[in-house]
Amino acid sequence: MLLTPRTPAPRARFTPSRRRKAGALLASAVSVCLLAASAPAAPLGVGDRLFPHLGNPGYDVAAYDLSFTYPGTNSKPLQAVTTIDAWTTASLDRVNLDFAHGKVDSVEVDGEPATFTSAGEDLVVTPEDPLPEGSWMRVTVRHTSDPVSDEDREGGWVRTADGLAMANQADVAHLVFPCNDHPSDKAMFTIRVTAPKGYTAVANGLPTGVDRAGRATTWTYRTQHPMATELAQVSIGRSTVLRRSGPHGLPVRDVVPTKDRERLEPWLKKTPDQIAWMEGKVGPYPFETYGLLMADADTGFELETQTLSLFEKNLFTEPGYPEWHVDSIMVHELAHQWFGNSVSPRTWSDLWLNEGHATWYEALYAEEKAERPMEARMKAAYGASDRWRAAGGPPAAPKVPDPGQKISIFRPNVYDGAALALYALRQEIGRPAFERLERAWVTRHRDGVASTADFVGLAEEISGRELGGFFEGWLYGEKTPPMPGHPDWKSAAPQQAPAK
Ligand SMILES: [Zn+2]
Repeated sequence: MLLTPRTPAPRARFTPSRRRKAGALLASAVSVCLLAASAPAAPLGVGDRLFPHLGNPGYDVAAYDLSFTYPGTNSKPLQAVTTIDAWTTASLDRVNLDFAHGKVDSVEVDGEPATFTSAGEDLVVTPEDPLPEGSWMRVTVRHTSDPVSDEDREGGWVRTADGLAMANQADVAHLVFPCNDHPSDKAMFTIRVTAPKGYTAVANGLPTGVDRAGRATTWTYRTQHPMATELAQVSIGRSTVLRRSGPHGLPVRDVVPTKDRERLEPWLKKTPDQIAWMEGKVGPYPFETYGLLMADADTGFELETQTLSLFEKNLFTEPGYPEWHVDSIMVHELAHQWFGNSVSPRTWSDLWLNEGHATWYEALYAEEKAERPMEARMKAAYGASDRWRAAGGPPAAPKVPDPGQKISIFRPNVYDGAALALYALRQEIGRPAFERLERAWVTRHRDGVASTADFVGLAEEISGRELGGFFEGWLYGEKTPPMPGHPDWKSAAPQQAPAK
């Protein structure tokens, strides 16, 4: 994710009263251990420090099959069927799924009707018979998926001028479909969308079929790589799909409002060269396709949804954004396909691995293509770093999100503050070792999940150095350590920062 730069301050997303209510909701949704069968249904989590209610213990999802029927208006819910194939890692009397917005009509487990109730932001399913550890289960939920937000919870579906898009990061995929909503449980996705005549639907991965029946069309897409729930994308709109070829014949497809296709083309045609540039830095593009989804919506951010990054159309059509800057934002979301998508964070505290690297390649692209020196950007970041750490925590131990604000963990400490830690690492171990580390990271953990400790371990392995003390200061220190090679750089004390 990257917040869209704005001349005016971004619009407030929540009123104070909403914030209080959402805080109470979050506080109640604590993770607890697996319950005895007689205990009341309770929300569970996988123990994420920043989002304790996300994910559920006891199973590992292998595949999601999502079916949405769009009614042709954003004011009514979509009818949906979500089928989850999962492997049990404990014996389960109940199966908790994350799902908090929408009406559930029925649930089946392995084809048999199951009872269900909600607890916090969980849908708690009780199968007829307990499920043994080490077995496959198939849970089918018939439900609605509502693009109209609750008063307290915003996100998931994004209503655009001509339909819908999706923005689930970090914790709102479960407002759209029942799931194990944590990036540590990646799975394969099949996504089907039925929409009335005149609409086009596109989702992550490649198309596998289009069925026209009467006035409705059903599009089916399938991922060829595992994906986290936060990266799911479904676009429904009066759209045109533009196709071109990337490096080694990679299929590139962009989804644009039909009326804007010509004026967006000068931007869209840049993607193949940007992919080639990233491949030159870190190795092969990790997925089966890429492209930009140009949403006619005021999201306030861009988002690296897997294989199809979501952009605010206005970023490209409003004058005032310098071309080099928009280019670097395109590269930011592209870099996430390696850093954050192919290699997912183990916990949300590892978010700096996503955003720090995406910011790194954003800045490196600006340096190489637009003569915006990395060193100047990093010196400025160094100056602000102590202030960012005071406001948001150190890069690898970010402060908890502000209640009710899903994107409030996306603070400068995990963007330029984390890119600064990568710059320090390059200064410390030298450019050749740093570049080997970057390639090794996305190769070793491709299609996987990795943590900050994994990154530290690999950096030590590649550099042949003990780096525990170095990373402790740069990733977890309250104060920014001295910059290797730049002992003169100074960070302004937080109390000296001008009041915002
Ligand atoms: Zn980002």
